[in-house]
Amino acid sequence: MFRKLRIRFTCSTLVILVVFLSFLSSTVYFATSQLIDRSSKSLLEETAKRIIASESNLFDDYMHPKLFDEKKITDKIKGMFSVNDSKLRLGYVIYDQMLDLVYVKNNDDIPFSEFEKYVFDSYENREAMFSLDKIDDVEYRIYTRFFNNGAKTGVVQLYQDRSMEVFILEHLKHSLLFLIVVSSFILAVISWYLAGKSIKPVMESWNKQKEFIADASHELRTPLTVIQTNLDAAMCDDSGTIGENRMWLDNAYSETEVMSKLVEELLMLAKIDANQVTLRSDDMDFTNICSRTVDKFAEKFKIRGISIHKNLEEGVVISGDQLKLTQMLSILTDNAIKYTDDSGEYSISLKKEKNKAVLEISDSGVGISEEDIERIFDRFYRADKSRHREEGGTGLGLSIAKWIVESHRGTISVVSKVNEGTTFTVELPIKS
Ligand code: ADP
Repeated sequence: MFRKLRIRFTCSTLVILVVFLSFLSSTVYFATSQLIDRSSKSLLEETAKRIIASESNLFDDYMHPKLFDEKKITDKIKGMFSVNDSKLRLGYVIYDQMLDLVYVKNNDDIPFSEFEKYVFDSYENREAMFSLDKIDDVEYRIYTRFFNNGAKTGVVQLYQDRSMEVFILEHLKHSLLFLIVVSSFILAVISWYLAGKSIKPVMESWNKQKEFIADASHELRTPLTVIQTNLDAAMCDDSGTIGENRMWLDNAYSETEVMSKLVEELLMLAKIDANQVTLRSDDMDFTNICSRTVDKFAEKFKIRGISIHKNLEEGVVISGDQLKLTQMLSILTDNAIKYTDDSGEYSISLKKEKNKAVLEISDSGVGISEEDIERIFDRFYRADKSRHREEGGTGLGLSIAKWIVESHRGTISVVSKVNEGTTFTVELPIKS
């Protein structure tokens, strides 16, 4: 599924980039060809104007064949051009009012006779026109201009060999195409890499989600099986009273409690994942909250014979969500009771340190081994699966506690020694 997604992502990015690149290249090509076209046309127009401006002198020369001196005329025209026309492969011819050819300046043997048709058109319509023609595989740009400067009438026709222009444009086209192909390849590699990078967090959260669903269903199946087995046992005893089957019913009942705790925690985690948990930000006396939370467990402590040591500094005020912080305190205290043998010790201390409230909850319980300590904040992680399940553990408490602490911009850490005890330290910013 993710491979398909990556391919799709790469393809769409690539298509967008290639379209953009093609658009850019076409613009460059089009702009260049327009520029060449415009400058060539204006050169032809400019040249034609100069020829026409000197028209009367030229005609005088033509009209008197004896005085016809081609060199003289050519020099006259050459002097008029600011650009050397031979470099531009430019040639021109001049026709008089009878459309007789009176002058030829034919550069590189341009086949001007092929372009006579434009001369007639221009003369007939009394206008200037540009045309493109191809003779013997050579392309020409032809500018044919009718003129009537009062004294003289005629047509001047200029030709420009477009070979160099075509060559430049073809070369540009090939270079741009090559650029598109090479960059497409490079972009494909980059897009593939970036697609992989962007999909990675989605993949991780998808896998986590899958793991979470698998773990949750597994955790829910266990109490359900226990409930079913106990109720089966009670139902088998057709004639027995409720009192006689109390043990089976008690077992089933305590499992429903485990289940409801589990469902509650699962819902909480689902809300956390969906960013649906809104935290209040009220100022509160954290000392008071710690004290009251421990008091709520007084009965449990008493039953287990665990002694309580409270060392709470007065007036530690923090800002946060009271319910959630109480939940975090309950998780840590409940764990301390669960994982401490009867007649053990529990201690809670709270003190201000610089701008932090430092809370420590310790027990003299079973402790956590080094290999487990890294993972106890992971969802569904239980160090000793069978034992801790018997204690009613779901493996979700500490991950919720960690989320609560961190969403209050605090930190939580643990120090433990097997068979000696465990200390959880929570640091929260205090209200200054
Ligand atoms: P659970 O519901 O199983 O207690 P938690 O997330 O609260 O889930 O704790 C995860 C695991 O961390 C527990 O199963 C237990 O192995 C270990 N643990 C937590 N607190 C203590 C403690 N005070 N002493 C020893 N082990 C603890």
